Amino acid sequence: MSLKSGLASFFLLQFESLSSSTSTATVARRCSFGHLRPVPPSKRAYTCAATPSPQSAEKSNGVLLVVVGGGAAGVYGAIRAKSLAPHLNVLVVEKGKLLSKVKISGGGRCNVTNGHCPDTKILAEHYPRGHRELRGSFFNTHGPGDTMSWFTDHGVALKIEEDGRVFPITNNSSSIVDCLLSEARERGVCLQTGKTVTSVSAGVQGKFILKVEKRSVEFLEYLEADYLLIASGGSRQGYELAVQLGHSIVDGVPSLFTFKIKDPLLSELSGVTFLKVEASLILESDKKNIPHLTQLGPMLVTHWGLSGPVILRLSAWGARDLFRAGYKALLMVDFVPDLHIEDMKSILSRQKQKFAKQKVLNSCPSEFGIVKRFWKYMLDREGLNCDTLWASVSNNSLNSVAYLLKHCAFEVVGKGQYKDEFVTAGGVPLSEISLKTMESKMRPNLFFAGEVLNVDGVTGGFNFQNAWSGGYIAGTTIGELAAKAVC
Ligand SMILES: Cc1cc2nc3c(=O)[nH]c(=O)nc-3n(C[C@H](O)[C@H](O)[C@H](O)COP(=O)(O)OP(=O)(O)OC[C@H]3O[C@@H](n4cnc5c(N)ncnc54)[C@H](O)[C@@H]3O)c2cc1C
Repeated sequence: MSLKSGLASFFLLQFESLSSSTSTATVARRCSFGHLRPVPPSKRAYTCAATPSPQSAEKSNGVLLVVVGGGAAGVYGAIRAKSLAPHLNVLVVEKGKLLSKVKISGGGRCNVTNGHCPDTKILAEHYPRGHRELRGSFFNTHGPGDTMSWFTDHGVALKIEEDGRVFPITNNSSSIVDCLLSEARERGVCLQTGKTVTSVSAGVQGKFILKVEKRSVEFLEYLEADYLLIASGGSRQGYELAVQLGHSIVDGVPSLFTFKIKDPLLSELSGVTFLKVEASLILESDKKNIPHLTQLGPMLVTHWGLSGPVILRLSAWGARDLFRAGYKALLMVDFVPDLHIEDMKSILSRQKQKFAKQKVLNSCPSEFGIVKRFWKYMLDREGLNCDTLWASVSNNSLNSVAYLLKHCAFEVVGKGQYKDEFVTAGGVPLSEISLKTMESKMRPNLFFAGEVLNVDGVTGGFNFQNAWSGGYIAGTTIGELAAKAVC
C-alpha cells in the first residue's frame, strides 16, 4: 500500500466508522437539511504533506487527534503528540493560513519568547490573566529555556535582546514558520487549511464528532476524533466549540493597546520617547482617586496619544476595567521617577541662579533627562512664557513645574491600535482544565492550549510562550495516552 493510499483508506475508514455509529442518523439528517452536502470520502482531497507509514497506520487502528487551529499552540502541540506517538493520526484543521500570526508577529521578526525570566514565579507575573495559576507546573514543564532549546535544536539560531525579547537571529519570522511547518510535515502531521470546524458534539465511546466546512465552497464533512485539541486562539468560533462541549467562557476583551489622549499640544510631540517614567491609571471607580495600576518603564508619544511598554502593560493589566469604563480614565505620569520632588525644586533653584539671564526654554536641567520639545510643552502647560528669563521666574512657578513633572495628568479618551502585538483577554477559564495535562476537567480526551484559554501576557514574547507551553503539555499528554493505548 502506498503512503497516499494508506491515508486515503484511513479517512475512508473514519467516514465508514462514523456511518456505522449511532450518530449516523444525526449526521445524515443534518446533511440533508443544509444546503451543503458531504463530499463522498473517496472524492475528498487531503493535502497532507506526509502520511503515516503503512506499519504505523496499521498500528494506529485509525486513532485520530484533531487539532482545531494551526497557530503556534496547535502546530507545536501537534508536533509534540506525533513525536511521542508516531502511529497516531494527527490532523490540524486551520480556517485561514497556517501560523499566520507567527508570520506577522513582532513587526515581522517574531518575538518568540522572553529570555530574562529564568524563575517561573517571576515569569508568571507577566500574565495579567493567569499570573496565579501559571506559577506552578506549567512553565516548569516547558518554559522559555525549553522553547529556546527546541528551536535551536531544530536549526533556528536565536538571540536575546537587551530587554529580554528573543528573536530569530535572521530577524525574520519566516525562520520560525518554516521550522515548525517542515518539522510537522516531516513527522507526518496532516495540515489542512481553508477549512473551519463549525461545531462539535460528543460521539460514541467518548469520541468527538466535528463538523468541518469550507467558506464560500459547497463543502461539508464530519470527522470522528479520539482526541481533540482546541487551539483556536481568541476566535469566537473556538469559544463556541468549547461551550458545545460543556465549558464556560470568560467574555473576551482587547488587551495590549495604546491610549488616545485628549491634548492637541501633545500630538505635536509625536515621536518623543522617555526611557523611564512611572505611569498610573485612575479609573472613575477608583475610590478617592487612588490609582490601582502603576507601571515603570519606557513611554512614547504618538500622534494620537501615548504608547510604549509602560502604556501597553497598563492596557493589559487594566484591560477589563478600561473596557468597563469605555476606555475613559486619567493617566498620571511621573517623568522623573528617580528624583524626589524636593531635589527637583533645588535643581530648579540652582538653574535659576546659574542661568539667570537666559531664557527658560533654552536651559532645561539635564538631571531631568527630557528633550527641549517636551520641556517647552511643560512650560506651556504651566503657563510660563518660554522667552521669560530664569531670573524672572517666581519660586512658586518653579515649584509648580517640579510638581507637574512628577504628577502630570492626561485624559485618556479611548484606545488606539498597537500594530506589533494584540491579544484577547478572556476564554476558557483555567479552573476548568488541568494545567499539568491541559486536559478538560469536564470531558476526557479534550484539550486546550494557547490564547483560547483565559490567559494573556504583556508584550515581550510572553504570549507566544503561553502557546508553546500549553501546546507542548497538551501534545505530551495526548502522545503518551495514544502510545499507552497501543501497548
Ligand atoms: C500583530 C500581532 C503581533 C504579535 N506579536 C507577538 C510577538 O511578537 N510575541 C508574542 O509573544 N506574541 C505576539 N502576538 C500574540 C500571539 O500572536 C498570540 O498570543 C499567539 O498567536 C496565540 O497562539 P494560538 O495558537 O493560541 O492562537 P492563534 O495564533 O490565534 O491561532 C489560532 C488559529 O486557529 C484558527 N481557528 C480559529 N477557529 C477555528 C476553527 N473553528 N476552525 C479552524 N481554525 C480555526 C485561526 O484561524 C488561527 O490561525 C501577536 C499578535 C498579533 C495580532
